[in-house]
Amino acid sequence: MSEDCLFCKIVNKEIESQFLYEDDTYVVFKDINPSAPVHLLLVPRRHIRSINDLEPAHESLVGGLFSLAAKMAKEQGVDKSGYKLLFNVEKGGGQMVFHLHLHLLGGWQR
Ligand code: AMP
Ligand code: ZN
Repeated sequence: MSEDCLFCKIVNKEIESQFLYEDDTYVVFKDINPSAPVHLLLVPRRHIRSINDLEPAHESLVGGLFSLAAKMAKEQGVDKSGYKLLFNVEKGGGQMVFHLHLHLLGGWQR
């Protein structure tokens, strides 16, 4: 837990959010300002600032994010139509919330 981290507050239910999925390791919720018809944020409960801060011990945590993404894409009905997975890394990469998260974007008609 990092104080003043928005996603830590969401993970710890200090800020209201509806989880589409949660387990001991991850939570998933809808992006408040969606960039696609389906825009989910897949968030490890553990506070890690960004991809730059990954250590070897985090490998299974990050690997698990991709399995969870495939599961969520299927649940949202975008697995066959297709989707994007995105990490923004630091300010220049568009990161605004400095708690590791994977964007799942999909649901376009094309
Ligand atoms: P990033 O720019 O990669 O750090 O992504 C942060 C994302 O969090 C943005 O797409 C925001 O729209 C989203 N966001 C910010 N506050 C909230 C919130 N309270 N609930 C859900 N999503 C949020
Ligand atoms: Zn955090």
